[in-house]
Amino acid sequence: MAAQLIDGKKVAADIREGLKKEIAELKSKGINPGLAVVLIGENPASKKYVSSKEKICEEIGIKSFGHKLPESITQEELIKLIDNLNSDKNVHGILVQLPLPKHLNEKEVMNRISPAKDVDGFGPDALGKLLLDEPGFVACTPHGAMKMLEAYNIDPKGKHAVVVGRSVIVGKPLALLLLRKHATVTMAHSRTPDLKDVCLKADILCVAVGKAKMITGDMIKEGAAVVDIGINVTPEGKIVGDVDFDAAKERAAYITPVPGGAGPMTIAMLMYNTVLAAKMTVGIKVEM
Ligand code: NDP
Repeated sequence: MAAQLIDGKKVAADIREGLKKEIAELKSKGINPGLAVVLIGENPASKKYVSSKEKICEEIGIKSFGHKLPESITQEELIKLIDNLNSDKNVHGILVQLPLPKHLNEKEVMNRISPAKDVDGFGPDALGKLLLDEPGFVACTPHGAMKMLEAYNIDPKGKHAVVVGRSVIVGKPLALLLLRKHATVTMAHSRTPDLKDVCLKADILCVAVGKAKMITGDMIKEGAAVVDIGINVTPEGKIVGDVDFDAAKERAAYITPVPGGAGPMTIAMLMYNTVLAAKMTVGIKVEM
């Protein structure tokens, strides 16, 4: 039986629609949510991501402040820019598009972003709060994955969730979010033996590795919900996920497509965090 498609595009559009209304209301109170987007160098994928983010900011009414800087920028110059953005009252959220050129210290840059403006949720404050189950900015891609499950009434409670990939920006926060929703969570990575056996136990299988179609149909438990976060470009120039979609959809009950799943959700959750950041500056109590 073919799986039901989890339509990330649609869920993201619904979230943007809700935000549009909230932003209009904030503006009527004199609060203009603003997002600073810092792009360094000429990486084509980064340029594309930044332009999609700016387009969506415009669509929903967030003011975007673009900072497009040359590859030659020094660490000191970049830190100075972050400091300026940290103190700019019109900027509620700061996004530094990764990866940074090799000569820059990514960790120092990301840690310099004020916790109150860390809308990517990559900094130690946001990650610490996630671990402590305290309100804070949740990293956009894992948050988007959870919102997709929620939109299709897939409750992680009591289920066995397997997260393949343990990065700080996707795998680890996603495992914590699933745990928060009372799933029993297994994390798998490159040193996990018998990945197939592990995946076959997953009622919810989330994959964030970056290897085209590495999760084959025979690794999917019948009736599982599959969230594919990977983005890979094939030699033919096609964008595919980490899961072999055509084979997996014959066994799964739910599956996210690539493109059209985690991608649009990530941007929607960035906008969500920016609106939260704007609300917090004026003391509006927010659910996070
Ligand atoms: P990283 O490279 O930081 O992490 C990849 C993870 O995959 C690591 O934990 C690694 O294990 C694990 N891994 C590698 N090979 C295997 C293997 N053979 N079996 C099991 N695990 C393996 O990647 P990211 O988390 O940053 O991104 C993952 C994917 O998600 C990429 O395709 C990326 O483009 C995509 N992505 C998509 C986003 C979206 O908006 N849709 C946003 C962010 C990322 P180990 O730790 O042992 O090395």
